[in-house]
Amino acid sequence: MRQLPEADRDAIRLAQDPKFPRWLEQITATGGCAHPVHLSGSTTTLDSTTGEIIRHYDTRDEPGERLLVRCRNRRATICPACSRLHAGDTYHLVRAGLLGGKNIPITIRNRPRLFVTLTAPSFGPVHRAGDRCRPRRNGGTCEHGRPLGCGALHAPDAAVVGQPLCPSCYDYTAHVLWHAHASKLWDRFVIDVRRRLASSVGLVQSRFARHARLSFARVAEYQKRAAVHVHAVVRLDGPAGPDDEPPAWGSADLLSDAVHASARRVLVHTLYSSAVGELALHWGAQVDARPLSAQGDGPDDDAVAAYVAKYVTKGASETGAGTDHPLTAWEDIESAPVSGHVRTLMRTCWRLGELPEYEPLHLRTWTHTLGYRGHILTKSRAYSTTYAALRAERAHHKGHADMPDMVTERHWRYVGSGHTPGAALIAAGVADDLAESRRLGREAKQQGKGRR
Ligand SMILES: [Zn+2]
Ligand SMILES: [Zn+2]
Ligand SMILES: [Zn+2]
Repeated sequence: MRQLPEADRDAIRLAQDPKFPRWLEQITATGGCAHPVHLSGSTTTLDSTTGEIIRHYDTRDEPGERLLVRCRNRRATICPACSRLHAGDTYHLVRAGLLGGKNIPITIRNRPRLFVTLTAPSFGPVHRAGDRCRPRRNGGTCEHGRPLGCGALHAPDAAVVGQPLCPSCYDYTAHVLWHAHASKLWDRFVIDVRRRLASSVGLVQSRFARHARLSFARVAEYQKRAAVHVHAVVRLDGPAGPDDEPPAWGSADLLSDAVHASARRVLVHTLYSSAVGELALHWGAQVDARPLSAQGDGPDDDAVAAYVAKYVTKGASETGAGTDHPLTAWEDIESAPVSGHVRTLMRTCWRLGELPEYEPLHLRTWTHTLGYRGHILTKSRAYSTTYAALRAERAHHKGHADMPDMVTERHWRYVGSGHTPGAALIAAGVADDLAESRRLGREAKQQGKGRR
């Protein structure tokens, strides 16, 4: 027994506990969450008229006198089980805004809807995969003596892809400040699209809200060069939102023109800094606005929803563009498992974070995400349903929702989190089993469809 790794010995100890079956039930209920939250307390359900106790639940009888609940982390590197659930919710949330469902009418399928991709501008040439990297007929070097071109053919996963040709020429300051203002740039973009739509049909811009409503859901994705770009579903409704038809002038073409024009034009100016000056930040030249087919039942909408959902589970770490946890000291940057390029971005973030004029940007707090502090998924209020509503629906299916004519008293307190090494091993096994049975379920469903 002593020769076994600590986690195995711990797992055996757990399995010998008389309350192990109940504990395993709890772990299964969390889907094999890797960092469950431990709660202690009770819930009592009473009949509101007679005062009779209908149901009473208390953690006193539970293993360790506690109940384990999901951590709900969206990142696959932190909790595979919860990140899968979160990706599923995101998929349904984005899909409902495209196809209807979850209290959104299916008529939204016929609204003007675009799948928009906005990129960061160039901060200096980086190595590229695919075709020849950066061929240059007459060679030449930069002021640092490094070649201005690269004739190599890099594999997509080559370490050099996304790294600058010359780190000294690369504008790290602009890259970090662009990240820090990306959400503001998006807000300006949305305002400008509304303004353009209004003026293109001769409306006073302040009247736009009386005629139409622009809704969106967007995700941020780190590219190889560690710059964020944005994918968004943009939809035009009537003034009341999803339940309301857009005005006759509201076409996908008009929306697409406005998106392109606004993406080219909007600017955010950084606050003046004696060290940096004032930068005018804008989107990259690469703008894509693809109309989604009005049929709605094509593979397009599902594919878009799945694509968007995939990105919310990725932290900066999976794409190699940062770490999952905040960095609290310069030394953390030096030891972070990242490329030289990302490390320089982190150092730049940390240094700029010291300037009083950039204080509102909280650059040190967001060093691990390279200055970007937006949520991974952002949506406008009227886009579709919410994560909270999806969770409530799930609880209802499981019969956890409260019945009418009953009152529920809850007394809960946080008593800890996480797993012991052996518990972590068992939970990971549970998570894998659940993922595998879901995969098999999906396959069986697919085959069923194929036979029809
Ligand atoms: Zn979890
Ligand atoms: Zn190259
Ligand atoms: Zn150079």
